[in-house]
Amino acid sequence: MDGVLIAGGGIAGLTMALTCHEIGVPATVFEAADELRPLGLGINMQPSAVRALYALGFEDALDSISVPVDEVALVARDGAAVWSEPRGLDAGSRWPQLSVHRGALEMMLYREAVERLGPAAIVTGCRVTGYGHTLDGVRVECGLLDGTVEQAEASVLLGADGLHSAVRAQMFPGEGSPRWGGSVLWRGVADHRPVRGGRSFVVVGNRRQRFVTFPIAATDPVSGMQRQDWIAELKFDPMRGWRRGDWNTIVSADEFLADFEDWAFDWLDVPALIRSSEVVYEYPMVDRDPVDRWVHGSVALIGDAAHPMYPVGSNGASQAIVDARLVGKAFLDHGVGRAALRAFEVGRLDEMSELVVDSRLAGPASVLGALDERSRSIFDDLDAVAPADVERYIADFRRDARQSIDAFNAAPPTIERGTRA
Ligand SMILES: Cc1cc2nc3c(=O)[nH]c(=O)nc-3n(C[C@H](O)[C@H](O)[C@H](O)COP(=O)(O)OP(=O)(O)OC[C@H]3O[C@@H](n4cnc5c(N)ncnc54)[C@H](O)[C@@H]3O)c2cc1C
Repeated sequence: MDGVLIAGGGIAGLTMALTCHEIGVPATVFEAADELRPLGLGINMQPSAVRALYALGFEDALDSISVPVDEVALVARDGAAVWSEPRGLDAGSRWPQLSVHRGALEMMLYREAVERLGPAAIVTGCRVTGYGHTLDGVRVECGLLDGTVEQAEASVLLGADGLHSAVRAQMFPGEGSPRWGGSVLWRGVADHRPVRGGRSFVVVGNRRQRFVTFPIAATDPVSGMQRQDWIAELKFDPMRGWRRGDWNTIVSADEFLADFEDWAFDWLDVPALIRSSEVVYEYPMVDRDPVDRWVHGSVALIGDAAHPMYPVGSNGASQAIVDARLVGKAFLDHGVGRAALRAFEVGRLDEMSELVVDSRLAGPASVLGALDERSRSIFDDLDAVAPADVERYIADFRRDARQSIDAFNAAPPTIERGTRA
């Protein structure tokens, strides 16, 4: 088979398939699940990813399932505002930052991939288990649901098979399980009256304990309520070990609710949000140490398979989408083969490795922890605690953000419309 074989039909794999189709490269996705379903909860998409999806023709579809985020707000443990900053269009970006249900995003990509590439191009119930090189490409082995094993050949294999990637495991046989740094996230969605302006990404807490919430739907005009995604986070001793990192583990809220019981403020009722969620998922916050390559001959890793990181900076899905566009650009520049994969790796690996490590520091939310440690108490009087530090931190952060927004707005699209390989 000529063209591209993609292991995994998640956000990375489906965006990759759609990008291949756009530039005229044949692509097939092998997805392990027997059926793609709208799994997961809310995610945030950075303007870079939104720009990429708009370029793929999803502007209306995406706008109809998402909410533009207009600020990030870091709030002290007592519910008093600490710092807020505009995001997306409000920050000057030409493209919005959007919050969306992961499942709705995946189903949007899936339906369109089936429509554009044809149903035969998305093969479900097909788990990639290994690969071998051929003279001019790669042979891929996959296990079907009935227990049989099949082989397929392609010019290149892209491992978009997520955190527990089988393709990565073959590339790095000694790597083992993901690394757990001591945090556990409990996640859910529930209705709440609009929090702050109704388009806020809000982080409340300190270094040991945090609560994050953002809207994933417009305010219901009848009830006045809005669907909020929430994440409750507690830190433990990393030596104690935790269960396997799986996005779909359902648990009882009793496991952590007591720690958030008094987090009821007049503008955000944390215990009520937790209690009114139909399902609560548990996720030990895991990542993997950066590796020094993502390419092995005609095989490359993209998305979480390449750079799994803590879900703290709205980067998981965003960077997976950007990866797919950059691989598409490399195919245009170098043809569908090893040279393109190497060019993608050279241009991207260092930046993503840095992001994996930075994500361990909690991004701007680390201000909350730093302040808390200085005050050794709930910081109800921020000005008295460390105004100079906060200002310095925020000034640096603003400078970086402003520079990157200007550069981003001025940059040409990764793939010029109508370009074919
Ligand atoms: C079910 C699920 C729920 C999630 N929920 C959230 C969430 O609520 N919030 C959040 O921030 N992030 C969530 N994530 C993670 C988030 O989607 C990713 O960080 C980001 O979108 C990068 O996507 P990806 O395509 O690289 O990986 P993933 O989204 O993990 O997709 C990987 C895909 O590969 C498939 N796969 C795995 N192994 C194989 C194999 N050997 N052969 C073939 N296919 C394989 C998986 O079934 C999956 O469809 C979730 C991921 C999953 C899989």
